[in-house]
Order: sequence, then C-alpha cells, then structure tokens
Amino acid sequence: MNDQTASPGSPTLERWLTGPRFAGLPARGAAQRPPLLSFEFFPPKTEALEQQLWTCIRRLEPLRPRFVSVTYGAGGTTRQRTHATVARLVQETALVPAAHLTCVGATCTEVDEVARQYWDAGVRHIVALRGDPPPGETYCPHPDGYAFAADLVAGLKRVAPFEISVAAYPELHPQAQSRMSDLDNLKRKLDAGANRAITNFFFDSSVFLRFLDLCLAAGITAPVVPGIMPVTNLAGLRRMSALSGASIPEWLAHMFEGLDDDPDTRRMVAAIVAAEQVRLLQANGIDEFHFYTLNRPELTYAISHILGVRSPSV
Ligand SMILES: Cc1cc2nc3c(=O)[nH]c(=O)nc-3n(C[C@H](O)[C@H](O)[C@H](O)COP(=O)(O)OP(=O)(O)OC[C@H]3O[C@@H](n4cnc5c(N)ncnc54)[C@H](O)[C@@H]3O)c2cc1C
Repeated sequence: MNDQTASPGSPTLERWLTGPRFAGLPARGAAQRPPLLSFEFFPPKTEALEQQLWTCIRRLEPLRPRFVSVTYGAGGTTRQRTHATVARLVQETALVPAAHLTCVGATCTEVDEVARQYWDAGVRHIVALRGDPPPGETYCPHPDGYAFAADLVAGLKRVAPFEISVAAYPELHPQAQSRMSDLDNLKRKLDAGANRAITNFFFDSSVFLRFLDLCLAAGITAPVVPGIMPVTNLAGLRRMSALSGASIPEWLAHMFEGLDDDPDTRRMVAAIVAAEQVRLLQANGIDEFHFYTLNRPELTYAISHILGVRSPSV
C-alpha cells in the first residue's frame, strides 16, 4: 500500500468502514460536508463538439471539482485531441486536469514520452488504463509496450511523481479470470503507486457497496470512487455495457420503456435515477463521486447540486 492511500484526506473506504452501513436517504443538514467530485469528458472530434465540450466545462467549472479527466480513444486514436483538450484546460481554466493514458498499440518509450510531455505541460494527474483492442479483436500487448495497467502505473512513476487513478470493476472486468484475480489486479495497480480507483459505471448501489466490502477483504484501503453515469439513452447504454461488463438492471430498462421519442421525459427520468443512486450511496457514507458527463453538463450539474455541491455564487 502506498502512503497516500492511508492519509485521512479522502478515504472513501475508511468512511465506509466507520460510518453507518445502511441508512435511509440523508436529511441534508448544514453539518454534512459536500462530497468531492470529479468530472470526465471525452475529446471532441469536430468544431461543433468542441464548442459543446467547452460549454459543458464552463458550466461545471464553478462547482470546483477536485479534478476533471479527459479520455483517450481506443488504441490511442485521440492522442492529439486528448492532449489538446488537456493543454487548453491547463492554459485557460483553474481546473486540475487528469489525462487518461492507455497501453494499447504503443511501446513503453512512446507512452513514457507522452507522459513526459504531460508533466512538462503542467499535468500532474494521469488516469492509467490498459485500454481495449479495436472492436472484434482480442487484446494482445504490444511486444515492447506495457502489458497491463499495473505495468503502466509503475512506468509512470518512473517518469515523474504523478498522481494516478486506475479503473475498477464492481461487476468484474469482462476478461477477468475470476473475482479474486481481478481484485488482486486492482491491488497490484494501487501497490504500484496509484492513489485511487475509479469504478466503471453501475446502477444498483448495492453492487458498489458489496464491491467495497470485497476490496476491504482483499486488503485494499485506497479510495474507491464510484463512477456515475447519468443515462438518458438506453440504446447507447446497451452498447457501452456490452463492452465494459456493466449490467443494465431490468428496472432501469423498464423506466425508459416507451420513451424513445420523448427526450424531455427521458432526461427527467435520468435525473431521478441518478439522484436516487448518489443519495443512497451518500447515505451509506460515500463522499467521493466521479461523473461520466458525456460532455453534457445539465444532469451532472443538477445531481451535484442535490449532493450539496454549489458554485460559490449560489
Ligand atoms: C474510470 C475508467 C476510465 C476509462 N477510460 C478509458 C479511456 O480513456 N480510454 C480507453 O481506451 N479505455 C478506458 N477505459 C476502459 C478500459 O481501458 C478497459 O476497461 C480495459 O479493458 C481495461 O483497462 P484496465 O486499466 O482496467 O486494465 P487492467 O487493470 O490491466 O486489467 C485488464 C484485464 O486484465 C486482467 N489482468 C491484469 N493483469 C493481468 C496479468 N498479469 N495476467 C493476466 N490478466 C491480467 C485483469 O483482471 C482484467 O481482466 C476506462 C475504464 C474506466 C473504469
């Protein structure tokens, strides 16, 4: 275990260990500390999407997330765009950026060079991932590359003293040999120097809370931050779920039934589902959340507000 994971600053797991296990939804009181938030964006492909992203960033910026992260397309396909977005965040905002970086299709030297460029540009936080092969192919490490995320974490630490986040899977990574081997892998990533894990999205809070129990039993004490995906589009969600191993509960599919041509109601349903999810987690002691914003600010802003996170002007 590395030193930072044991510090009292933001240990979700410690709070889960010492707080009430199951409680009703919280009655918000002045004494309740607002949670720590982080927001994830993807790099835009077109000028119009670039504008949409920056509208989203500007809307969420006053909520003062502790960091915002920018994804890296499968196989490094967005390398330049990820870099450009992160660089603009450094230059034009007060936000703390975290750049996603993967192992796929690159040598260790190439990945190290990208990391060095980030460090030189003032980026201090990397989300270190293995990445996925192109659709339909099986993952095969580059012969001269980092094979798995744990190797990448160790490599990044040799480049510079980055803060590092890694991925975790409450419902198991699709290629994991077993639950135990996946937990061992998560522990290896943290032992290699990662500061926290951010989970894949999930919809049943009990799935996440049980996963925390398994992490604790496996000796993982670093913060494990729930990844929250406010969903408005079930078809898109099904595609993402198939890739990432997250299940779509029947009740969720049922909530969106008959709303294909009714985006307004879909958005309201999405807000209610996500608000219930985060409040239940908050009631159970969880005080850090990572939002997959999909570059749209409305739901993330509303749910952050419900959680007690306000811009200073509100
Ligand atoms: C928060 C978050 C952000 C993400 N951002 C991106 C992104 O920006 N770009 C992108 O392309 N993808 C992203 N992904 C997806 C991720 O790249 C895929 O899920 C990928 O398949 C696994 O990445 P990992 O870092 O978890 O891999 P790893 O931790 O390396 O694990 C991958 C699999 O290999 C197994 N494994 C690990 N080590 C070994 C070993 N030595 N021998 C055998 N098996 C082993 C693990 O159990 C697991 O099943 C993200 C996922 C999450 C949860």
